[in-house]
Amino acid sequence: MKWKEQILNLKAYQPGKSIDEVKKMFNLEKITKLASNENPFGCSPVVNQMLQSYQPLRSLYPDGYAAKLREATAEFLNVSERQLIFGNGSDEIIQIISRALLKPGVNTIMPAPSFPQYRHNAIIEGAEIREVPLVDGAHDLSSMLAQIDEATAVVWLCSPNNPSGKYINEQGLVGFLNKVPDDILVVLDEAYYEYVVADDYYDSLELVKKHENLLVLRTFSKIYGLASFRVGYGFGQENLVQTLEPVREPFNTNVLGQAAAAAAIQDQDFVHACKEENRKGLEQFYQFCREHNLTYFPSQGNFILIDFNRDGDEVFQFLLSEGYIVRSGQALGYPTCVRVTVGSAEQNNGVIESMKKLW
Ligand code: PMP
Repeated sequence: MKWKEQILNLKAYQPGKSIDEVKKMFNLEKITKLASNENPFGCSPVVNQMLQSYQPLRSLYPDGYAAKLREATAEFLNVSERQLIFGNGSDEIIQIISRALLKPGVNTIMPAPSFPQYRHNAIIEGAEIREVPLVDGAHDLSSMLAQIDEATAVVWLCSPNNPSGKYINEQGLVGFLNKVPDDILVVLDEAYYEYVVADDYYDSLELVKKHENLLVLRTFSKIYGLASFRVGYGFGQENLVQTLEPVREPFNTNVLGQAAAAAAIQDQDFVHACKEENRKGLEQFYQFCREHNLTYFPSQGNFILIDFNRDGDEVFQFLLSEGYIVRSGQALGYPTCVRVTVGSAEQNNGVIESMKKLW
């Protein structure tokens, strides 16, 4: 049975090595993790200050409606509260969508390589997976359209795409959305949205007004620096979001995460400062790549995929021994690359100096 074969082949998600594990392995004091696209500057001081005096009642369940966070996010985005869904990370919203809409007999279309959780959840639900290869790191939207048929339930888009860092431009996305039938859900994962610097980037808030089948995902794990709290959100038209709400677990976001995210969204100065620093950090890597004639993908996220023209696992292992945790491209569909999260200037210099030892 095809479904059983799929689930038996499923591997547990491997998020990469932890700092403690690498410390032990190499007997090193200092380990820098540049593997999961977290914010090297932490979170807003406003959040830290709030948490110092925040004493939620530990014995009570959190507010399942996440009212304060919902209110703050609705206000920030200028959408209604019923247009929002919160998850235990956007990971959970991907799971909710998959649970709601995927099953044996339907298919789901996604770019490849991209964020592995689209595929992972589709396997769990037993849906047919149609992966459409990226072209030069970018979505091949016309080939994705060509894959749609009457059994298609969900199309996933990731912009900027993890791991290639490329975004979909406005013209491409608008043309695509106009051609996708209304009864097929389009999920636009914008986990790295806040890092984008591009004139032809689209406005997803405007696009959801026009497309009842569009759900946009964002997260507090990346630029907001709250990955440990696990809060992500989705927005779309009210009807769409309200069809997904019953699939969500009742108390899916935790009390500290809700409070931290509600505070974080108020501090857009912190967000802008991190975006600026990220641009400078990317430049450090671009310069290194140019100096060493390495191919890289210009990135709109807080990570960069560098082609070392040799086994990505080898580069990964070498950098581990130097105290830097990055991601091997072997696991990401780019076998001769590694993906490095852009860190602070000092962290970037450090990992670049270690990379130079490869020659
Ligand atoms: N989407 C993309 C493209 C990602 O890269 C990530 C995290 N690496 C996520 C979603 C999930 O983020 P979170 O669950 O922390 O919100």
